[in-house]
Amino acid sequence: MSIEVRNATKRFGDFVALDDVSVSIPTGQLTALLGPSGGGKSTLLRIIAGLETADSGSVSIEGRDATHEPAQKRNVGFVFQHYAAFKHMTVAKNVAFGLEIRKTPKEEIRERVDELLRLVHLQQFADRKPSQLSGGQRQRMALARALAVRPSVLLLDEPFGALDAKVRKELRDWLRHLHDEVPVTTVFVTHDQEEALEVADEIVVVNEGRVEQVGSPDDLYDAPANRFVMGFLGPVT
Ligand code: ADP
Ligand code: MG
Repeated sequence: MSIEVRNATKRFGDFVALDDVSVSIPTGQLTALLGPSGGGKSTLLRIIAGLETADSGSVSIEGRDATHEPAQKRNVGFVFQHYAAFKHMTVAKNVAFGLEIRKTPKEEIRERVDELLRLVHLQQFADRKPSQLSGGQRQRMALARALAVRPSVLLLDEPFGALDAKVRKELRDWLRHLHDEVPVTTVFVTHDQEEALEVADEIVVVNEGRVEQVGSPDDLYDAPANRFVMGFLGPVT
């Protein structure tokens, strides 16, 4: 398993955002955390990333106990719904950022950035500023930046949530394709069941701070444990 969360509980004051959650995510798998807003998906992702600490429970990444490891030591790439690009830097510089702070040799950075921009189909935009990109292109840049440092885990929190339906659909197909090419262990948060069904190898349904169901898209479509959360696209019996 690449990611193991065991018995994670997280409270905000009296409110229990995660209630004894355990999840196992195999290496190389594209996993969707699916569920309604407020269910605890982002909190779970942030605990995996090390941006938040659970009150109890453990996190291990690639067999290493990461429970008390700071985010920057976990070798995870992160993409949020609203990408905070460096506005004054070019697209290429934005993608190179993580490599430059690691003092990677210049020639290696140049080659890696070229490779990444090709991968996300932005090679002709290398010298533009992020403000000159469309929303979809900006999220592709964010993915290139997250992948630059060869993370062992890629975490995406509603990465396409702010985009319109057509671009969202395009990026969803593209992400599937990208993952086939670069099979980094990926956890993808979404409240959109169609997106989860189309993109993911496996879906973890998170609702009211608990894991309600884990299964392949087909399993969940055929036999949703909670029709309200996961059933209304599938057969109604
Ligand atoms: P989701 O991503 O599934 O929409 P979240 O994990 O963001 O859900 O949030 C789960 C619940 O925890 C929500 O009710 C949210 O208001 C609450 N919550 C999340 N972060 C905080 C915080 N920093 N302080 C207080 N409450 C929070
Ligand atoms: Mg969220």
